[in-house]
Amino acid sequence: MDDRLFRTAMGRFATGVTVITTKVNETLHGMTANAFVSVSLNPKLILVSIGEQAQMNQLLKESGQFAVSILNKYQEELSAYFAGQINEERNIEFDVFNGMDVIKDALVNMTCTVQSSVVAGDHTLFIAEVTDLRIQDGDPLLFYGGEYKNIK
Ligand code: FAD
Ligand code: NAD
Repeated sequence: MDDRLFRTAMGRFATGVTVITTKVNETLHGMTANAFVSVSLNPKLILVSIGEQAQMNQLLKESGQFAVSILNKYQEELSAYFAGQINEERNIEFDVFNGMDVIKDALVNMTCTVQSSVVAGDHTLFIAEVTDLRIQDGDPLLFYGGEYKNIK
């Protein structure tokens, strides 16, 4: 099957947008991800699917912990930035939540500890326990058909 056909089809599944953050040796790294799934209520598990080529993949294996920030509708530029689509280094001001760096003003910030990882084709699924979370008001940033959308 053609890659473009597959991506076009998967793009018809509307998602929110997250930024994953983790720290290794005091170096903080962020990456945009929409392959985020709520997995289990008891215990509280989520998963993220990270490409083998992404720097984040190796960093998560080393750190064993990460934060997920669910972006609001005003954070499209942050999504593009942490997807490597803006060709400049920026000094991003993060918030600290439960001891981890997270995206400010996001709809949700959650901190997670990796419980298991499964290599699946050219991605790794990181299944992680949610150790704490906080929710803030607002509308979500959506990704559909390869474009950003808003609910309203
Ligand atoms: P890089 O590309 O090296 O870093 C991303 C950018 O963030 C760079 O500009 C870097 O300078 C900057 N940056 C990182 N940390 C900091 C910091 N602390 N301070 C300042 N700047 C910093 N890929 C997946 O594997 N899984 C997905 O689910 C997924 N979903 C996506 C959803 C959307 C809507 C988009 C647009 C892309 C998605 N991608 C996904 C692709 C992924 O975001 C990119 O391939 C990304 O570039 C890979 O990140 P990286 O870890 O290699 O980091
Ligand atoms: P796109 O048309 O590439 O994405 C549409 C959908 O296809 C995505 O929501 C995702 O479900 C799927 N997809 C895209 N690339 C994938 C990959 N490498 N592995 C697994 N699923 C993938 O949209 P776009 O605006 O061209 O995307 C911007 C960039 O972000 C592209 O380079 C794309 O590959 C990357 N991206 C990667 C993933 C991922 O790895 N899971 C998800 C979204 C976007």
